[in-house]
Amino acid sequence: MALGEFDLIRRYFLREAGAGARSEARAAAGVELGIGDDAALLRVADGEDLVAAVDAIVAGRHFPACTAPRSIGHRALAVNLSDIAAMGAVPRWALLSLTLPAADPDWLEEFAAGLHALADAHGVALVGGDTTAGPLNVCVQILGSAPRGTALRRSGAAPGDLIVVTGTLGDAAAGLAIVQAHAPGAADSPGQRELVRRFDYPVPRVEFGIAARGIASAAMDLSDGLAGDLPRLAAASGLAAAVAIERLPLSAALREYASLAEARELALSGGDDYELLLCVAPQRYQSLAAAAEALGLPLCVIGEMHAGSGVAWSLDGAPAAPARQGFDHFR
Ligand code: ADP
Ligand code: MG
Repeated sequence: MALGEFDLIRRYFLREAGAGARSEARAAAGVELGIGDDAALLRVADGEDLVAAVDAIVAGRHFPACTAPRSIGHRALAVNLSDIAAMGAVPRWALLSLTLPAADPDWLEEFAAGLHALADAHGVALVGGDTTAGPLNVCVQILGSAPRGTALRRSGAAPGDLIVVTGTLGDAAAGLAIVQAHAPGAADSPGQRELVRRFDYPVPRVEFGIAARGIASAAMDLSDGLAGDLPRLAAASGLAAAVAIERLPLSAALREYASLAEARELALSGGDDYELLLCVAPQRYQSLAAAAEALGLPLCVIGEMHAGSGVAWSLDGAPAAPARQGFDHFR
């Protein structure tokens, strides 16, 4: 039975307000009108900034065509939550623009489950979208809020600030390499399965971004790889960055999968980690570290900011350069 556009939206994306779980209460806050009209009506409180971002993910570009639909639903929202995290904002509402080759109920069920699970975990309400037929393309717009003037920017770093990253780097790139070399689900050790999971289900650092507000001087999320992303933060702050490659945090799973040199290259140039890159004044570092520890999130100092421009990479004290820059769609 063919599923019509409106049945599809009603069945998979319109959700009744439930029994009042905390995340639902937060998701409902500020929603005057959600799915069903020509547009949603949303309210931020006086004294708050509305924080907006949009990111599309395209089959064959951002994920292999064989990716499980649950992972695609998760990723579409996760990449947007990561942008909100990098601003230190609270994610609140999402809109979903979905282009689908066919209205396949099994696919939609799984896709919606991946999206809704992550939305629920962060108290985000899906308040609208658009549904069309065509090559698979998933675009989510996210809206969040932050107390006026407090959102973290890329431009706020000062000379002498420490450069820190959350979590471990390079895992997602290794996970993607495993998927591409084998077949989906064909990772052949627990470590490799962990790396694939890091690619398929990125964890946006939303709580930490909020905690870093008022402590960090600058932040961005790592979507294209440190080697491509850090120069952008340095340029936005009008400063140079110096990074000691031997300090990059590498997971045990990555170290098991790759040689040390390969692992470092993945940590530098691999995309899709969705960890946060932050700058923090040395005297505030302890507060930031305490916030990370409270969330059970590793935090690692990898370098510092200086007057000047560009990024100086070093390995054990000697100048070194990443073999590849970060990912660029048009290069
Ligand atoms: P319009 O023709 O005015 O653009 P649509 O028919 O596209 O309206 O959508 C009807 C309602 O369903 C709108 O409220 C829209 O925001 C919502 N909607 C459409 N597609 C989706 C989707 N994939 N996810 C969530 N809401 C959607
Ligand atoms: Mg529409």
